[in-house]
This record gives sequence, structure tokens and C-alpha cells, in this order.
Amino acid sequence: MKVHNWINGERAGGPLAPSFDPSNGELIGEFAAGGAIEAAAAVAAARHAFDRTTWPQDARYRQRILLDWANALERDVEGLARLLTRENGKPLAQARGEMLAAISEIRYYAGLARHIPGHVLEPEPGVFSTILREPAGTVGIIVPWNAPAVLLVRSAAPALAAGCTLVIKPAAQTALFLCTLLDSLVRLAIPPGVVNVVAESGHEVAEYLVRSTDIDVISFTGSTATGKKIMATAAESVKKLSLELGGKSCCVVFEDADVQAVAPRLAQAATIISGQQCTAARRVLVHASLAPAMRDSLRTALGTLRLGPGLAPDTQMGPLIDETARNAVARMVEEACDQADSVLLRGGVPDGALRHGSFLSPTLVEHRDPNAFFCQEEIFGPFVTLETFETEAEAVAKANNAIFGLSASVWTHDGARAMRVARALRNGTVWINDHNKLFAEAETGGYRQSGLGRLHGYEALADFTELKHICLTAGVSLPDQTTGK
Ligand code: NAD
Repeated sequence: MKVHNWINGERAGGPLAPSFDPSNGELIGEFAAGGAIEAAAAVAAARHAFDRTTWPQDARYRQRILLDWANALERDVEGLARLLTRENGKPLAQARGEMLAAISEIRYYAGLARHIPGHVLEPEPGVFSTILREPAGTVGIIVPWNAPAVLLVRSAAPALAAGCTLVIKPAAQTALFLCTLLDSLVRLAIPPGVVNVVAESGHEVAEYLVRSTDIDVISFTGSTATGKKIMATAAESVKKLSLELGGKSCCVVFEDADVQAVAPRLAQAATIISGQQCTAARRVLVHASLAPAMRDSLRTALGTLRLGPGLAPDTQMGPLIDETARNAVARMVEEACDQADSVLLRGGVPDGALRHGSFLSPTLVEHRDPNAFFCQEEIFGPFVTLETFETEAEAVAKANNAIFGLSASVWTHDGARAMRVARALRNGTVWINDHNKLFAEAETGGYRQSGLGRLHGYEALADFTELKHICLTAGVSLPDQTTGK
């Protein structure tokens, strides 16, 4: 399989770079890797399409394109889901779910394309202030590999709905999938340059987009460390930033929760995409009275998950994205196991048929000090910590003792407590008796070092629009003084 880039409505080549199946190390195909030259051409094309076509003004046309894209993807859901599983490693059911969510989200923003209203005020007699929401311009989207369909769409669909033009930079690990997914968009009847795609094996293209004065917005999903570098570089051109960064989700389990029922759900929430989801459950904070039951149940639930290739029908957890990531996570897990009060389940690299893939089985440790590095830092893999608390206030304090603020969950049948604690947790999303539920309609994003702005939902349009104030002094039409009429 070979995929290429798209610049100004035309296919663009480049030196070929390989992409591998993380479940067995086999070569799946090659993608054309771009560099600064391709990035410059793509930026120029996006700029031209924004400045010189009616794309930014024609909302009904943009809606039609988004609906056509969703329909095209729907015709090939199964093929795309299988390719996503092969390249990313996630179980096929998760890949299918991701494709359906992405299609649904495109349709959501297709509707919103025709509803981006402003408002009018009369701040002084006869003075009219019209506030319009306008497209922000050209957008560089840097897409990660963990959920490439949904994480592309949640930036690209609102940006296109708003009237922006795009340069999309896929992650190298899932470039075959993303370029294939975007093929069905670039082939639609859109002006050349509205959607440009430049994959790469390094970071030159991404850095070019961040530096360029012809890019108005960067929408980046990735780690907090890279997000900080992007903020520093983007300061030079003062561009708008939409940053969806790392997390360390806490699950707070109160004394009335049913541990037998909750533990398997936490295990699932912790190992979704092999623990490579930003919102994955990472810290389980459990009331001390339930600690013995939680130790046993969570260890069993995590320890009995079936690892395997994503295409195998009984697989519950696939490999990590590649060997480099697996080895980095394994090193951090080993260090955590050396320092933790107790290791309840020690994961590792499986042997047998799975040894050719980048698999890592889950680890569970228990620890009292919430400041330990493994209770604070994001470890992007199947690793969970168990901590205990005695009071609600202690639970909230421990959960909020973090640099991140992406998501959390509260597990209790006491509705008032659930609401109270959800309000007290400094996170962009809090689930009650659930975890990892995301919707096209509901905004997600981070407090603190988990990011800037919101994606999904109506508010995502704010990341890709500017507000303009047009002021007109029209005067007041008064009755004729001579006739009194
Ligand atoms: P990463 O930070 O390594 O990002 C990699 C991407 O950034 C690549 O495309 C790379 O080319 C680009 N990049 C690297 N250096 C750059 C620079 N100096 N300037 C511009 N671009 C640069 O992240 P990752 O490992 O690909 O993804 C995992 C991370 O993503 C985790 O931290 C996870 O929590 C986060 N994530 C967050 C969300 C969210 O919604 N908040 C969703 C998914 C993933």
C-alpha cells in the first residue's frame, strides 16, 4: 500500500517512509514523507484558497461538502476500521466505534456550518454594533496517532464548518490510515487548497506550520511537553492556539460503590487503546473501607484482559503503538514498581506469538504519596495506581494535586455527593459512574496543563473563528417637529 500527500488539489509525492503493524512488526505500506518545501507549498495553497475563493463565505456549500465526506466514509467504514486497527493496533471493535463517531461528528458540524450567528446591539442611541463570528483563516492541524479519525475530525470539521482552510499533518505512525481517510475529502468538489495534507516522518512540517506567519491557527493534540514548545514558537507570530494535551485521570470511588461492578469498568477505562488515550483511567482513589476489595477486583480485572492483535475477534487489548513507545513505557513502569509501596500486578512484555509485536501487559501499584512521579506524570500505557482516602475532602485534595486537568470520574450512588465532587474537581470533563464517554455534541478540553480551548460541541467553533465588531452610527429617526408626525 502507498499513500501520498495533497497540495493545492493535486497529489504530491516525496521520499517514501514505511509504516508497520505494531502487533507483529510487519511492513503494511509506505507514505510520501514531506518536508519544509511541501509544507511551504501547502501553506501557500491554504492561504490562497482562504483569501481568493468564496469558501469562507459559502456556508451551505461547506455543509454539502461535509455531508458528502461523511457519506463517502460511511460507504467504506469497514475497510477504514480494519486499516486503523492494522496501523494503530487497537481492537477492531474500538476502530469501528471510532469511525462511526467520526462520521457522526462530521454531520454534527455540517449542521452547525449553517448556524454560526452573531448579534446586534445599540449601545448608544442610533449606534449599531454588529458582532459577527468570522472564520479565523488558515489552520494547521497536527493529528496524533492514538485516535486519528476522531482527533482529526474534531478539529477539521469545525474548522471547515467555520470556513477555514487547512493544512493537515498526520502522525507518522498512522499516516497510511489518515491519508486514506482524507482521500475521500480532497477528491470532493472543493476549491484547490482548501484541504492540504502533508505527512512526514520527523517534525519539520509541524514546526513549519507553527512558525509560519501565513497560518492563523494551530490545532494540536499531543503531549504537554510538545504543546509547550508549540506555544513558545507560536508566540513569535501570536497565532491562535487550540491545544489538547496530556492528562492523568483520577477515578474517585466512594464507600457506597459496588466494587465488583466498578473494578472491571475501571480496568477497561485504563486499558482503552492499550492505555494510550489521553482520558484513560490512571489513578484510582478508593475509600479506605473498600481498599481490600478493590485491590483484588482490579488486579483480577486487569490481569485477565486478553492481549492480542486487534484483528483477532477475542482481543480486549492490542499492542502499544510501536516498540519505542512500548520500551519507554516499560522503563517508567519498572521504575514505578521499584518505588511503589506495593506492586499488586506486575505487567511485562509477553512471550510466545506476541513477542514480535509491541505488547505490554497491565501493571497495578498501590502507593500512599500522591507526589510520587508515577502518580503525577502521564505514563502513556497500561499502568494504574491505587491510592486510598478517608474523607471526601481528602479525596478531592488528592485528585486535584496534579498539573493536569483533563478528565476524572466519580463513583457513588449518592447523587448530591457526585455533583458536589464533580464541581470540586478541576477537570474539563467529569463522568459520574462512568469513564471515557465522549460525544460530538459535548465540549472536551483541559484545565491547567491539559490544554487551551475546547473541541467537540458548539464551543469548538470558537477555536476556529474570530469575533468582529462592525460599528455603524446610523442616527435616530425622530418624528417631524413641524407636523408632529
Ligand atoms: P507528541 O507530543 O509526541 O506529539 C507528536 C506530534 O507533534 C507529531 O506529529 C510531531 O511531528 C509533532 N511535533 C513534535 N515536536 C514538535 C514541535 N517542536 N513543534 C510542532 N510539532 C511538533 O504526542 P504523541 O506521543 O503523538 O501523543 C500522545 C500525547 O497526546 C499524550 O500526552 C496524550 O495525552 C495526548 N493526547 C491528548 C488528547 C486530548 O484530547 N487532550 C487526545 C489524544 C492524545
